[in-house]
Amino acid sequence: MKLKNGAEYMESLRSLSPAIYYRGKKIKDVVTHPATAPHVRSAAMTYALASDEKYRQLATATSHLTGRTISRFTHVHQTVEDLIKKVKLLRVLGQKTGTCFQRCVGFDGINAVYSVVFEIDERLGTPYLQRFKKWLTHVQDENLMVVGAMTDPKGDRSKAPDEQPDPDQYVHVVKRRDDGIVIRGAKLHMTGAVNSHEILIMPTLAMSQTSKDYAVICAVPVDAAGITMIFGRQSGDDRRDKRERIDVGKPRFGAVGGEALIAFEDVFVPWDRVFMDGETDFTAEVVYRFAAHHRANYGACKTGLMDVLTGAVAYLAKMQGTAKASHVKEKVTEMIHLCETLYSSSIACSAEGWKTASGAYMVDTMLANVCKQNITRFHFEVTRLALDIAGGFIATLPSEYDLRSKEVGHLVKKYFTGIQGIPAEHRIKIARLIEAMTGGTALVESMHGAGSPQAQRIMILREGKLDEKVKLAKALVGIPKKGIAKKAKTRSA
Ligand code: SF4
Ligand code: FE
Repeated sequence: MKLKNGAEYMESLRSLSPAIYYRGKKIKDVVTHPATAPHVRSAAMTYALASDEKYRQLATATSHLTGRTISRFTHVHQTVEDLIKKVKLLRVLGQKTGTCFQRCVGFDGINAVYSVVFEIDERLGTPYLQRFKKWLTHVQDENLMVVGAMTDPKGDRSKAPDEQPDPDQYVHVVKRRDDGIVIRGAKLHMTGAVNSHEILIMPTLAMSQTSKDYAVICAVPVDAAGITMIFGRQSGDDRRDKRERIDVGKPRFGAVGGEALIAFEDVFVPWDRVFMDGETDFTAEVVYRFAAHHRANYGACKTGLMDVLTGAVAYLAKMQGTAKASHVKEKVTEMIHLCETLYSSSIACSAEGWKTASGAYMVDTMLANVCKQNITRFHFEVTRLALDIAGGFIATLPSEYDLRSKEVGHLVKKYFTGIQGIPAEHRIKIARLIEAMTGGTALVESMHGAGSPQAQRIMILREGKLDEKVKLAKALVGIPKKGIAKKAKTRSA
């Protein structure tokens, strides 16, 4: 594991030269640029925990490829215990950063691709697993951050990839050469892209034979020729002025993951980094497995965030003298209850994990989808309760400039002081934290990250074994399995 801590990770980013744009200008150094630095620091926490004695057991694993100690974020799950350790690790990271720490997307991509390419090779005799293992060993040994790149722009969503008026709406192979392939297209909403080392490109949906050129899995360094990234805006990002430490809410970390558009304009990928080329029959499985792994995470990382939010409102209520009010206690209780319900879901889909043919472990798909679906509701309910307890002042607070002002600072302090003994600044800091964790960009990820709610509902119905449930109902009241149809036939005969 070459990169041993957060500082080494940050330094490693400086040796790369990705083309990243933000608000129309090129970013020279993602580690120090005010828009990207908070996200770099969140991702750095995944490195920091691996070197922290207290969390090492969770944050590292033993590679099944080399036997060496690696970051868990580069590991292929070998047991149910691995799946559960991941959930625990993600919750701790959510608690420590209060935001998305990004590295799970590549982690889930690695796990989905590993088990699927094993199955492609088994059926078709392709050499993908051997190539993937070589690339993964490099990722593990160097301790690289990988961005899992799945979501294509999709253009006209009523049309398949090969039917699009603009063929680049899905990443596709434009040329096959003796030494590799050339790809073109884009991926949207790529969490952690600007501060990763590698991009793992995967198809975004199940494809038919006609979309062969779009069925591609491959890996490229973030600074490969032809790659351009455009970093997204987040609410409050113009508050990241050095004098506005308090107003951003979480001065060290970002509002959400830090997402980017990645454009691939004729990017060359050597064959030893190509892990699928045209095997459309396997595209669905890559998508389902990646989605299930990532959906399972949300009851872990987001519960970490909810822990922070619950702590923030509880402390704010104390500072405001309302902590003992029965309705406040009731609401805090409900926040905790919902948070732990979500966590149970993540633990459950991991505990019900199963071994794929490759030996890698998968979470239970149904429970993972239920977990993420619940996030799209309960996280919002937890937020609603937090806003209810906090009160309207989190939306009307004067800025830190006023707090520090010689002319009006004393008025801000006087009128934003709650109970005696706690400075107004503390109350303002906590209020800004609540604002950052409940508004703007912060919750969009809970709704749409790892797939929008409808994507989970499709999987829930698909995996719901409705026929078996009908059989259960029939058996209980004594309706024969095919009784009705038979009798109807007999009568009409
Ligand atoms: Fe990881 Fe959660 Fe961020 Fe997804 S949303 S990358 S699971 S922290
Ligand atoms: Fe996400």
